[in-house]
Amino acid sequence: MKNEISAKKIDKEHIWHPYTSMINPLPVFKIESAAGVRLKLENGSEIIDGMSSWWCAIHGYNVPELNKAAEQQLKKMSHVMFGGITHEPAIELTELLLKITPQNLTKVFYSDSGSVAVEVAMKMALQYWHASGKPQKQKFLTIKQGYHGDTFNCMSVCDPVTGMHEIYSGILPQNYFAEAPQCRYGEDWREEDIFSFKELISQNHENIAAVIMEPIVQGAGGMRFYSAEYLKQVRKLCDKYNVLLILDEIATGFGRTGSMFACEKSEISPDIICIGKAITGGYLSFAATLTSDKVAETISNGNPSCFMHGPTFMANPLACSIAIASIKLLLSTPWQRRVENIETQMKEELALCRNLPTIADVRILGAIGVVETKRAVNMEIIQKRFVEKGVWLRPFGKLVYIMPPYIISQKDLSKLTKAMYEVLKEEDVFL
Ligand code: PMP
Repeated sequence: MKNEISAKKIDKEHIWHPYTSMINPLPVFKIESAAGVRLKLENGSEIIDGMSSWWCAIHGYNVPELNKAAEQQLKKMSHVMFGGITHEPAIELTELLLKITPQNLTKVFYSDSGSVAVEVAMKMALQYWHASGKPQKQKFLTIKQGYHGDTFNCMSVCDPVTGMHEIYSGILPQNYFAEAPQCRYGEDWREEDIFSFKELISQNHENIAAVIMEPIVQGAGGMRFYSAEYLKQVRKLCDKYNVLLILDEIATGFGRTGSMFACEKSEISPDIICIGKAITGGYLSFAATLTSDKVAETISNGNPSCFMHGPTFMANPLACSIAIASIKLLLSTPWQRRVENIETQMKEELALCRNLPTIADVRILGAIGVVETKRAVNMEIIQKRFVEKGVWLRPFGKLVYIMPPYIISQKDLSKLTKAMYEVLKEEDVFL
């Protein structure tokens, strides 16, 4: 067993953490364990989780139902290859997913992370057009301020500036970017909002394979909530111009916006959907790409007659079993009311932040509460300040946000919103 000093040294000198320097990394907090909405630090103190570990831990941590599913599955098999083999966890999970996802989506491809699920979706679209005798349809159309993951094709549809991958822009496939929607969720629709998108699709549809976007909520590219009508219009334009629609529900799926999937708010279905993150309640990295009979059958009638992708950990039984337990747990709880209550409470309590001179905007949708600041935050200072106040919030740039596990109590959520207000009152937390 290493002593604390050498453990910290190993972490600092040898382990990459996301979005920080390897020479002069931002401090990290060592977590010993987690249960409910509380993360336990190495000194024994507890902090309230306001991040759901980046959208995933919707039921909180150390969830008895999920633990049981994992333990039972471990006794049977943790993993077995999926080529030439199938298993009950994959079959049962598929049955469940078919019940809760849009009806037209009937064919499920399992993979191991959100980025891979997006890569798979993009490849499906390309292979669909290849099999349809239109191999020139190779481009993607998306909207600015989007985010779809960190692998190469995902990067090519992330916002070139806010999507964190600007330095790669010269070597990425070139895709089309419409202006980000300005009409906010719940606002009256303004027709001009879709003009930029309409122009791009009408002029370039001959070489566009698919539109890809996050429905309603743009996550890591800006934490923005756009009009449900925008997505409705996108669906209509995709149909009109014979372009597939891929929706990336990796962050929004499994109830986060108050609907099981955010696309339900626009009453539309995509041709391909990507889901991940909360699918296992935050227990394991796992994702799925679902598509329609039409897309799957067209690909299968093409040459090659199979879809060219097959990850080692495809449909990992352990992840499937936990996903089944997580979805069943979600469906057995009043998740909609819980998300609604979180939304109402955040609307009331975060409204206070609007009075602060440092704040540019406050917006809330479902169990997502965003406070946008005028200046970027100083990560080192603000992170420490939040932990001192007993909460775990992880801002980036000018975005400070809460997306708690759905099981959070009123009291714990108040602690999060209060900490946010008090910390953002202080001048020194900004750059
Ligand atoms: N799409 C969206 C909308 C996401 O938020 C993310 C993760 N932040 C991804 C794709 C990529 O998922 P992963 O990190 O699991 O590869």
